[in-house]
Amino acid sequence: MQTETDELAAVAEWLEHADQITALTGAGVSTESGIPDFRGPNGSWTKDPAAQRRATIQHYMASKQARVDAWRMRSEHSSRTVGPNAGHVALAELERKGKLHTLITQNIDSLHQKAGSSAGALIEIHGALRDVVCLGCGERRPMETALERVRAGEDDPSCTVCGGVLKSATISFGQPLDPEILEGAQAASSACDVFLAIGTSLSVFPAAYLPQRALQAGARLVIVNAEPTRFDGRAHTVLRGTIGHTLTSLVALV
Ligand code: NAD
Repeated sequence: MQTETDELAAVAEWLEHADQITALTGAGVSTESGIPDFRGPNGSWTKDPAAQRRATIQHYMASKQARVDAWRMRSEHSSRTVGPNAGHVALAELERKGKLHTLITQNIDSLHQKAGSSAGALIEIHGALRDVVCLGCGERRPMETALERVRAGEDDPSCTVCGGVLKSATISFGQPLDPEILEGAQAASSACDVFLAIGTSLSVFPAAYLPQRALQAGARLVIVNAEPTRFDGRAHTVLRGTIGHTLTSLVALV
């Protein structure tokens, strides 16, 4: 039977010899920073299944109350300082070692960026909370400008250009992904020798198709996740430890 040390050594060897490495991260990489995931044991949707319905774009557009609640939550969360954890730092270090070429994240929390992952390597496939976008005219502004209006008393600030509905520049359920960003993520998945899927239940599509693309192109698939995922049976290795510890140990061997 392989020990965790043997498994890490084998994966480190694959990383050493790979020409192209792509990683995909999900909400699980940020739980050690104190941000809950959706479907883990302490996930927001595990605790409150109705939250999934409230996360759709249709609900946000149709319900003034949904927007008021969303702006209140955003302004409350903006005062919390959340920093990157050992998992984010290890991935930034893997890039500095010249071994991580593309880091696709489903996360919207900007923690990879804060840990030092470069803009050239990072693909934020679901957008990021740091900006707001008008759903009418597409005008984009920093989140902070909208939050200042909320703090000044507007409960559902609208676009100053066209009066349309403003939302964080993130992809909600029911919204399509930016086709160019998706193409970049697909190309990086097809071009790699090793694909690391980290802290994601691989149940949100189209991001969850990316490991499949990598496998079809002949890459090795390594999953780092505490709970089973739909791709475990097809992965070359599944590392079950916590992400911070596992990635720190792995990157130290490369
Ligand atoms: P998910 O909630 O479906 O799955 C997260 C997985 O990570 C779970 O299987 C859980 O067991 C695992 N996990 C959690 N903490 C871990 C740890 N410390 N070590 C090892 N494994 C751990 O998340 P998803 O697949 O990313 O899909 C949810 C969607 O919602 C995505 O679009 C995601 O980006 C978004 N989301 C983002 C954030 C964020 O930006 N931080 C937070 C919640 C949800």
